[in-house]
Amino acid sequence: MRKTKLWSSLLVASLIATGCQSGETKSSENSSKSEGDSDSPYLASAKPVEMSIHYHSGDGTFVFDDNWSVFKEAAEKTNVSLKGVAPKTSTNSAEAFNLMIASGEIPNFVYGNKNSINEYAKEGAFLELDKLIKEHAPNIKKLIDEKPEIRAANVASDDKLYVVPYVYSEGAAQGYFIRQDWLNKLGLKQPQNVEEYYNVLKAFREKDPNENGKKDEIPYFHRPFSTDPNLAKYDLVTLWGANEDLYLDGDKVKFGPIDENYGKAMQEIAKWYKEGLIDPEIFTRGNQAREFMLGNNLGGSTRDWFASTSALNEQLKDQVPGLNFVPFAPPENTEGKRVEPTSRNPVMDTGLAIGHTTEDPVAAIKYLDFLFTEEGRTLMNYGVEGETYDLVDGKPVLKDEILKSESVPEKLRQYGAQTNLPYQHDAEYENQFLNEIAIEGVNMYVENNYFRKLFPRLGHTKDEEKVISGTKTQLTTYINETVQKWIMGVEPVDHKAFVKELKRLGVDDYIKTNQAAYDRISK
Ligand code: CA
Repeated sequence: MRKTKLWSSLLVASLIATGCQSGETKSSENSSKSEGDSDSPYLASAKPVEMSIHYHSGDGTFVFDDNWSVFKEAAEKTNVSLKGVAPKTSTNSAEAFNLMIASGEIPNFVYGNKNSINEYAKEGAFLELDKLIKEHAPNIKKLIDEKPEIRAANVASDDKLYVVPYVYSEGAAQGYFIRQDWLNKLGLKQPQNVEEYYNVLKAFREKDPNENGKKDEIPYFHRPFSTDPNLAKYDLVTLWGANEDLYLDGDKVKFGPIDENYGKAMQEIAKWYKEGLIDPEIFTRGNQAREFMLGNNLGGSTRDWFASTSALNEQLKDQVPGLNFVPFAPPENTEGKRVEPTSRNPVMDTGLAIGHTTEDPVAAIKYLDFLFTEEGRTLMNYGVEGETYDLVDGKPVLKDEILKSESVPEKLRQYGAQTNLPYQHDAEYENQFLNEIAIEGVNMYVENNYFRKLFPRLGHTKDEEKVISGTKTQLTTYINETVQKWIMGVEPVDHKAFVKELKRLGVDDYIKTNQAAYDRISK
């Protein structure tokens, strides 16, 4: 393949030209112990070494900064200090990754999408990690043994592991919210099923709960999410037992939009829209939908993240006296089930690989293993003791100045904590800044386990990727356009014709290819 050849020749050229690589470590583990003496039990190298890291994520949300105190602290503990080599000016992570690869100079640590890393790893750019982890990284090994889905989701098609991933928390993400103050005003109870939900939204529309004499209430609104701006709006389909994307039925991969329930759901959602129960501008309202709808005392109900949505009660209390926007249980759907379509996925699509020229791979993996120790985990989640948090009764408690910031995670990121580099996320820290409303909502959803089973993150071979990326774009475009026409009443819902078109666009191959990728990890 052309890319392989290009890659290999670049690699050879740079090896010959320089005789060394930019990613080379400046010391080896055989150095005499006396030179880098330290009491730390986490030493990855006997002598202080510097390793390079290419960390560019979220199109510039995260770019490694040598000044991050979290990694200065990690250097103290491990004797490994990191030097960032990703361009701070770039706002395109994929491009930054590709430029680094094309340069032929692979740093010691490289962050990226697992599929990209796995492809270049098979060409020799990155080291195999299974043996290194087994022999030198007991904390990573323990986590992978406890959660086999982490390895399964990250291995390349040759069944080898090349990335150490960030492991996110499990638990609640988004939930249903409703204006409790409006319910009280109208003498209504929280809706317990889809029919009651319809009746409540209808009452919000008809009975002037904002008491201005105008029929201006917008019962259901929704803010689009940048990750998947359109699909999120169709989360309501779960109220009719449908799915909006790939899902698992036992071990069978299925695609929600071709199911009969999806057509039924669309018919109902179109009806709700026609009756004014859904924001007429739901497709264009934008990211500030919550602030607009609640701040102007117009919106009645939504689905969104617990923390930021609950916080609006406090933020908007002067604008809308009595505002009480609270989480409620997902209404029972037409099949008698309460379904919350979202939850947190501990398995990510990205991770950190070790460059093939790394002189001391043992030090590199030991360094990453430190990030998975209790102490490393606290450092990566909470920052540096005395700077961002204090230990109270043995537990890290964030300092007031951190808790007072508008976004605690963003504040912590200024110190290098709460990134998506390899470590295990600790959702516990959120309890220090979530308000009571959010905590109650999260607990209700977790205790009752309303969450729909997550579709696993699959690793794809290059050939699978070809089928999937091309087809997925076509399917998504067609679905989004059609569904929008249906909901807005431009076209009547014709699910049969819709399925026929999806088949023409290759939905069967799309499902089959995902099934093959799923079968690889489920055996
Ligand atoms: Ca009104």
